Amino acid sequence: MKAVAVFPSRKELKVIDHPEPKIESPTQAKLRMLDIGVCGTDKEIARFDYGTPPAGSDYLVIGHESLGRVVEVGSQATSVKVGDLVVTMVRRPCGHPECVACAAGRQDFCFTGDFTERGIKGRHGYMTESVVDDQRFMVIVPLNSATSASSSSRSPSPKKPSSNSGRSKNACRGERPARPESRPLTPTRPWCSAPARLACWAPWPCGPADSRP
Ligand SMILES: [Zn+2]
Ligand SMILES: [Zn+2]
Repeated sequence: MKAVAVFPSRKELKVIDHPEPKIESPTQAKLRMLDIGVCGTDKEIARFDYGTPPAGSDYLVIGHESLGRVVEVGSQATSVKVGDLVVTMVRRPCGHPECVACAAGRQDFCFTGDFTERGIKGRHGYMTESVVDDQRFMVIVPLNSATSASSSSRSPSPKKPSSNSGRSKNACRGERPARPESRPLTPTRPWCSAPARLACWAPWPCGPADSRP
């Protein structure tokens, strides 16, 4: 199948023939890729400033912002089904047992820096025809959101909502409405034993229960 790959050692970026992935574990699902975002990280990778191929490969398939449709599921994949639209996450846990963030499934807060990232660091990305990954790294996109997102972003002249439509001003300009509440950044759990750089707003249980007041 086709894929867009960067060869850092040769400073080359091109369309290549890449082996089609197969489901190898019962909780994996296979996706047909529909859309890929390109961001500043991709520009850096394409400038050969950044990007690490998987071990044993001289190239890295790029693309880490994706939309795919599930076309096949493993025998124990129960959280996604064929036909679902999904966004697949980028970062994968470091695997060190002492990393409480990765052990709790919060690898975006990895302590060790030894995480991998699809399309960026040590794992092939999504700018290709088919992708296989574990269901736990897939977020289902509700079909009604996908429909409204694509119609609003592709319409050449979006209709202005009437003044009594109830939509906020920000929403009319296609901007994200203000969050109704934000997580406090000041420590609220003084018993927290998480490292200082995580402060006390770490989203996982971060201290032994019996030490809490
Ligand atoms: Zn990005
Ligand atoms: Zn980690």
